[in-house]
Parts: sequence; C-alpha cells; structure tokens
Amino acid sequence: MRRIIPFVLFIAIPTAASLAQTRSKTLDIYDIDTEGGHAVLFVSPSGETALLDTGWPGVRDAHRIMEAAKTAGVKQIDYLVITHFHADHIGGFMELAKFIPIKHYVDHGVTVQPEQHIESKQAYDAAIVKGLHIIVKPGDKLPITGIDWTIVSSAGKTLATNMTGVPGAGQTNPYCAGFVPKNIQVDLENAESVGSVIAYGRFRTMDLGDLLWNFEGQLACPVNRIGTIDLLLTTHHGSNWSGVPALIYAIKPKVAIMNNGSTKGGSVEAFETLESSPGLEDIWQLHWSANGLLEHNAAGKFIANLEKPAITAGIIANPPPPTPPGALPAAIGNPDHSPAYWIKVSAKSDGTFTVTNIRNGFSKTYRTGN
Ligand SMILES: [Zn+2]
Repeated sequence: MRRIIPFVLFIAIPTAASLAQTRSKTLDIYDIDTEGGHAVLFVSPSGETALLDTGWPGVRDAHRIMEAAKTAGVKQIDYLVITHFHADHIGGFMELAKFIPIKHYVDHGVTVQPEQHIESKQAYDAAIVKGLHIIVKPGDKLPITGIDWTIVSSAGKTLATNMTGVPGAGQTNPYCAGFVPKNIQVDLENAESVGSVIAYGRFRTMDLGDLLWNFEGQLACPVNRIGTIDLLLTTHHGSNWSGVPALIYAIKPKVAIMNNGSTKGGSVEAFETLESSPGLEDIWQLHWSANGLLEHNAAGKFIANLEKPAITAGIIANPPPPTPPGALPAAIGNPDHSPAYWIKVSAKSDGTFTVTNIRNGFSKTYRTGN
C-alpha cells in the first residue's frame, strides 16, 4: 500500500543543501608570523572575530595582521585580547588601531611592569577609556556567538575549578610527580598573561600567551583543570620559561603550533617536551628555529617561514646563544622578510581540523579524540 506523507513533514526536514551549509561552517584561526611576537586571529562560524595580541611595535606586524584580516574578509575586531603588556604583544596596537575598528578591549588590568611603557601601551590606555573595556579573570567567558571562549588565567591567577564536560578535566594528573617549579623573577608581566581555551563543538584549542612555568603548573597539578585539547598554540614562543611537561602531557594535544621567531623561543626543552607528549602527531612552526637547530626543527613542510639557505647553514655551523625570553630577537637572518606567511587552522564542530602552511600550500587534516 502506498503511504501518503503529509507535506508538512517535508518542510520540517532540513534540506541537504542547508545541512551541508551547517556542516561546512568552520572556526578559522590565523597564526600570524610576527618574528617572535604574538598575533592570532580567530574568525568564529558566526563571523564574529577575536584577535589575540598585535605583535611588535611599528607597522610591519600591523600590516601582517591586516593581510590576514583581509584574506579572511574581516572588517572589524570584535574582541581584542591583549594577553599582557610586553612589546611583542601590544607593540603593534597603535598602528593596527588606525587600520581596523576594534569593538571590545580585553586584558588582565594594570601592568606590573609600568617601566616598559611604550607608545602602543599609551595609545591602548587612551582607547580603553573611550571604548568597551573588559578586565577578565579565570572562569570568565567571552560572549562570541558560535564558539565557547573560556579565560583560564589572568593577572597572576589561574582557573581554580575544573572545566566541565571535557574528558580528563578534574582528574588527578599522574605527570605531576615530574613537575619541578622554576624560580623566575624577571619580566613578571608574563605571569599576568590572559590565557584562553576556545571550543567549537568537539574541537578545543588553548593559548596561554606567555604564562610562566609555575602558573602553567597550577593549571595541571595536582589536578588537570583543562582536560584534553586538540590544538596547542604554544606558550611563550616555545621558550623554556614555559611549556610545563605535566600540563602538555595531560592535555594531550594532537597538534602544536609554535609561535617562535628565528632566534627567539624554539628552545630545545620545549621541543623535547612536545616530541615526547603522548598522542602528539605534528609540530608546526611559524619560523625555522636557530635554537632548535637540525635535531628539533620540524620538516620544512610544517614551517611557515624559512631563512635563506646560506644563513641557515651559517647558523647551524656557528649557533648563536639563545635569546632571553622577552628580549628582541638578535639581528641575524632576515627578520623583515617579505612576504611573511601565516599558518591557518580551519576547525569543524565535529572536531576535525585542517592545518595549512600558507607558504607552500601543504595541509593536513586531524581528527579529535584522545
Ligand atoms: Zn612574548
């Protein structure tokens, strides 16, 4: 017998086209090369945007951020998150603010290193008086439609509760037996860093700015507050003042993207931690690292920006001393190389995410699940 299905049923069911449209919406992340600074643009599936930091002072990094913004079709920064007030993070603000409207300003509050005041910090202080200024604390959310953005560190405090509904969050961390605190007493503005965990459906990523070692340790020991994540945007440019193994092993990233410069960050210790992290499939780098040398740099297809071969060969033959964290990268290589390439991540709500090196077009797709 032939059944007659009421017409109303047909209009209640989403069409194949609309389903495909929903599935194809992505959270897009542009990790921009600022030569050992920090600037990461997030474009949510709703089209709302957030920018984590503005790179170094001057127009170079502001231009690089705008190039990514234009490629992404971004016309406004809805949330500018300044992780902390060091020059490699707030430096590009003064120039960037001339190029694109900024709606909300998010930071940790008063700097603990006012002696580092630079023009961009003064311009920022003037902007937040007139604009919408949000001082965040751990546990706060940024209300960006379509994604779940949680603040996990700010102003020297870290999340004191467990993230909910996340595998591994709230569990005693077996790796804490190997956690040894470090006594770091300089550049303490790093410890103020605003850290974020950003989720889109099953996909989760984390960026802690330059949060120092002992504070990362608080997120991991004795209890893993964060749970598992898929993509780690490395802390502190891959410096050995951050990158606690007990945290990284517990959150089990599938992929790490290191925001190192040619001579800044990219420490052997940070590389070794990532290389030994359970379940880590690949390390991507914004720059070839003189500190990582032959033994630790990823294969070239995972590296967005390279030195000229003759310079690379010279560095390998005669390695420079590591640059202290927070210091300007030494003037070797070609720090103002053009073009500069970003690494793009495109994540779907089912947890699948694709990482692309804009220099060579190489891309690789990963699946969530640990
Ligand atoms: Zn930094």
